[in-house]
Amino acid sequence: MNPDARYYYDEENCQFVEVERGWTDRLRSVGLVLGLALVLTTIAAWALDAHVILTPHERALQSKNQALREQLDRVGNRMSTLSTRLNRLAEKDKEVYRTLLQIEPIAKDVREVGVGGTDLYEKFDHLDGDTGTLLRKTAAKLDKLERQVSLQGASYRELENAMSERRDQFDQLPAIRPSNGRIVSGYGMRHHPILNVRKMHAGVDFLLRTGTPVMATAEGVVRRAKFSPTYGKYVDLYHEEAGYMTRYAHLSAFADGIRRGARVERGQKIALSGNTGRSTGPHLHYEVRKLNNKRSLNPMNFFVPDMTPKEYHQLEQRTKRYRARARGRDVQGPDVPMDEGGDPSVSR
Ligand SMILES: [Zn+2]
Repeated sequence: MNPDARYYYDEENCQFVEVERGWTDRLRSVGLVLGLALVLTTIAAWALDAHVILTPHERALQSKNQALREQLDRVGNRMSTLSTRLNRLAEKDKEVYRTLLQIEPIAKDVREVGVGGTDLYEKFDHLDGDTGTLLRKTAAKLDKLERQVSLQGASYRELENAMSERRDQFDQLPAIRPSNGRIVSGYGMRHHPILNVRKMHAGVDFLLRTGTPVMATAEGVVRRAKFSPTYGKYVDLYHEEAGYMTRYAHLSAFADGIRRGARVERGQKIALSGNTGRSTGPHLHYEVRKLNNKRSLNPMNFFVPDMTPKEYHQLEQRTKRYRARARGRDVQGPDVPMDEGGDPSVSR
């Protein structure tokens, strides 16, 4: 029996007879199949068009796109890091060099020049949301970076010019530390351990073992190298070109050739540290003063060229903490050197 055939029941002959299929029947079947195929084709075409189904080519493009987008993201992040670093340089530039060389820093509005204004990135507008935003952001970051680099370059060139113009002044600027010891007492008002009153501390104290070399902090001329009951053995240097004087006190010995009128270079050994004069322990007392009115200045502000503002701030905090702890202990102990703020030869 043919499984595809259809049958009817012949009552007269009491048997099933196979129905002959006419051409209309066959046509209907073909039509059904064609109709179904058409529906399926339409659905497939729609799916391809709407990217529900991807062709292999599209799939390759999609993963390429994804990789590019990720890479662009990474580049963007690195540019942000560079930009932050440049900002830090600009900050240091402003805080340190410009303060010391007394040049006006590049104004903020000049630094921001070209920011805003016309939309430079319209060309990315036609792209879909994510891609457009990413390209726009990356292009903006790159522009900012270029601007920062060229501004920083201009700033350094300007500083270079200023420095070569003021070479003499700069050589005579007290710009280094007189010694490498820990700073144990800072500049400012403090409680005096021997006199038991609050007194101005006109310099900073470096904790040093007796006999440690003490360096001139700038080029200059020795004005005094002598003894006073207060400062003990001390050296005063005049830095006329820059308009400052520096003082190094409680020394144990002067270096060879250190006498009134002798010229010294920055970094030259001028003495050995000690514990002479009104001092409660071996240390170096160091002062910076204006030459014209002899007013004392905070020497910390002169150490900054080799420090970032942050490092400077940390140093300040450490010194404060150390002083607070020292006040809580036996303040006359040998590890807390203090000295008289009085001045035998300089009017205040
Ligand atoms: Zn001191």
